[in-house]
Amino acid sequence: MSVGNPSTRRHLFAAFGGRCGYCLTAAADHLDHLVPRAAGGTNSRFNLIPACTPCGTSKGALSVAEWVARRAAGTLTTGAGAPPVPVYRVPMKPVNHRPIAA
Ligand SMILES: [Zn+2]
Repeated sequence: MSVGNPSTRRHLFAAFGGRCGYCLTAAADHLDHLVPRAAGGTNSRFNLIPACTPCGTSKGALSVAEWVARRAAGTLTTGAGAPPVPVYRVPMKPVNHRPIAA
């Protein structure tokens, strides 16, 4: 099942340049839940991230922190061949600072 409405999908894929938000190298092919559905995560756009199949599959129902720790320790049981240590970066939007009126 496809997660996220078309607008959310377009926005998130564009924000990551079509790349996986976990490894930042592979092309993303789906939206993944940062907080897994199994742990109460929602389909809110703030809980979704574009992901490649190896990252999404190996993360499964783990939290991002647990997944990163298991990957670093080499104790993942799924997603063999996935890229090593993932990096998650929040896409930042430039802030338009305006001087405070005196
Ligand atoms: Zn990936």
